[in-house]
Amino acid sequence: MSRLSVVLPAYNEELMVGKTCRVLHEVLAEAGISYELVVVDDGSKDKTWEEITKAGEEDGNVLGVHFSRNFGKEAAVYAGMAQATGDVVAVMDCDLQHPPETLISMYHLWEQGWEVIEGVKKSRGTESLLHKESAGFFYGIMSKATGVNMQNASDFKMMDRKAVNSILSMPERNMFFRATSSWVGFKTTYVEFEVRDREAGQSKWSTWSLIKYAFTNIVAFTTAPLQFVTVVGGACFGCSLILIIYSLVQFFAGRAVEGYTTTLIVLLLIGSAIMLSLGIIGYYIAKIYEEVKRRPRYIISQILRGKEDVYQEVN
Ligand code: UDP
Ligand code: MG
Repeated sequence: MSRLSVVLPAYNEELMVGKTCRVLHEVLAEAGISYELVVVDDGSKDKTWEEITKAGEEDGNVLGVHFSRNFGKEAAVYAGMAQATGDVVAVMDCDLQHPPETLISMYHLWEQGWEVIEGVKKSRGTESLLHKESAGFFYGIMSKATGVNMQNASDFKMMDRKAVNSILSMPERNMFFRATSSWVGFKTTYVEFEVRDREAGQSKWSTWSLIKYAFTNIVAFTTAPLQFVTVVGGACFGCSLILIIYSLVQFFAGRAVEGYTTTLIVLLLIGSAIMLSLGIIGYYIAKIYEEVKRRPRYIISQILRGKEDVYQEVN
């Protein structure tokens, strides 16, 4: 019989993680699906690990993975996928914002032969208008970069073992899971779901961390900003040509303009264009630096299967 692994990244989720495990146990047992829950504690500062340990005592199908510190959700998802042993692997948030019932529909689609089943948000829940608009802008860029429509994409998805293995075989450290699962291809279908409100605990995303997330992922996935640098350079060059010709004409006609304002404007414009370009290029270099260091994506301090400590040297 096939087995489903559900990967649940958890960071400071002491209020939700136990409940999520119980709800998933009920829903999956009722549907008669053989499963394991791979809960990854992403270096939580609260009692999340204690809650995962408790969940493991209640349900032998829980595999708890404890990070040595916070490595971020992408790393937690990757670690969970690496530990998962199922024939099919689902990834979902452990705050019950992704409805467990949708998991069952996804599973049935997998049984029908679909290899990647993407969860698509029906609406973006109770987010602010600014948040929705900037998300729309970001996913517009990402859709162009990946060639896949990513509007309302989410981290809620189910993947066949084949797709999981191909994602795990990708060597890059800066991975954008949401887009990578489309990038690997395979027979893909989509399931809409309604984002639920968070019952307890807090969202880990501040506006600033979202901006950083957007920029990092654009850089991880596309070289479009570098082309933007070229365009800015080209535009500056075009303007300079016009200005040069204009100034020369003025000069030979004996009407050379007074210099200060023009000089200042040109200097500042070019200066800022150069700084902006350097910043963008610098960001790519920083990412290349991170990649060539080949550091592990995460460090695990403990792994529990049910009550048993099954930690082995990894990476
Ligand atoms: N998460 C994580 N590491 C982090 C931040 C978040 O593993 O550094 C997990 C978190 O526990 C949750 C999921 O990622 O299961 C989504 O986080 P959150 O609910 O804060 O995001 P939102 O639903 O507000 O987009
Ligand atoms: Mg959430």
